[in-house]
Amino acid sequence: MTERLYYSDSYTHTFNARIIERLTHSNHPALILDKTFFYPTSGGQPNDLGSINQAQVIDVIARESDHAILHIVDRETDSGDAACSIEWSRRFDFMQQHTGQHILSQAFIRIARAETASFHLGDSLTIDLAVEKLSPDFIDQAEDLANRIVTDNAPIRSWFPSDDELQKIPLRKAPEIDGRLRIVAIGEFDFTACGGTHVAHTGEVGLIKIIKVERAKKAMRVEFMCGKRALRDYRRKNVIVNQLAADFTCGVLEVEQSIDKLRSENQTRSKELKELRLRGLEEEAQKIIAALPDTWGNRVAKRVWANREMDELRKLAMRLTDEPKVIVLLGSSGAKANLVFARSADVDQDMKALLMPALKVIGSEKGGGDSRLAQGGGVPASEELIEKALQEAKKNL
Ligand SMILES: [Zn+2]
Repeated sequence: MTERLYYSDSYTHTFNARIIERLTHSNHPALILDKTFFYPTSGGQPNDLGSINQAQVIDVIARESDHAILHIVDRETDSGDAACSIEWSRRFDFMQQHTGQHILSQAFIRIARAETASFHLGDSLTIDLAVEKLSPDFIDQAEDLANRIVTDNAPIRSWFPSDDELQKIPLRKAPEIDGRLRIVAIGEFDFTACGGTHVAHTGEVGLIKIIKVERAKKAMRVEFMCGKRALRDYRRKNVIVNQLAADFTCGVLEVEQSIDKLRSENQTRSKELKELRLRGLEEEAQKIIAALPDTWGNRVAKRVWANREMDELRKLAMRLTDEPKVIVLLGSSGAKANLVFARSADVDQDMKALLMPALKVIGSEKGGGDSRLAQGGGVPASEELIEKALQEAKKNL
């Protein structure tokens, strides 16, 4: 069994140890040391990385059978002695996030009686609170309280208490494991059973900032960042908001207002554009109607355009067939050619039956509709080919 030195000291990150066992794990060499500061993935905290002699440590796990700690490395190392180095920036980041999590979890209990049901620590840091709602006021108050604990710079202590002592400790959450419990106390503020690595004083956590709160099934998921992560996030967001302010030529605090204004202007423009399009379509329809042959029988309008939207053709066809005794055969050439056939209510012709042979001319089988209006296409076709398809339809009338 490996002596787990990180239990009593989470700051030492270079040390020497003796290799007591060599094995293979998932096709990689693995080393067991007589003692280690390397933290294995457990309790929601990811493993440490680093090096042992010339080898890179790519994973650290606790063996279930005897709790020995396996240091999975990328290459063999000959020596019986191990010169070990833990990637400190990664470890200290986890210490900041993990300690911050203890503090925020307790803060949510004090402010909103919201217990932490689970937490996740990786690239993101979240806690799931066992409540279905959380008011914005409570979120701010919990964040304020958590940051007050940070500025109090309370000492953090971890130890294995005796059973008698354990009875008297006001644990935040009933422990899930049997056996000896390691208690982590944050001043007098929070007591939790935890095997992870934590900072020695709350001040080292730095800023605790909630980023997002959202519903996750029956819980409220709180995403937050601590210390250097929070600083990096602030820096990135500051660049974004400064750029937005520069783009809008306004102050940072006026960005929201500028976006609201832009959005409402955009809505007005969209409405205007829609009206203009409708008006244009109506004018076009009037011209086609004026050019219809002057006859007592059915009047056929046949038109071909390049690259017109199916939707526009259909709107035009519907408007034209509001007039009595009209059959329209409309086509658009291009990469996605379209045919739209329609008739007035007082015309006795089946548009779907008319469309199918015309579609065949342009080599498409995609089309549908009913006896009143039918449409299809979706294949590339030249203007000449569309013209040929419309001729074919006209011939079948
Ligand atoms: Zn912990």
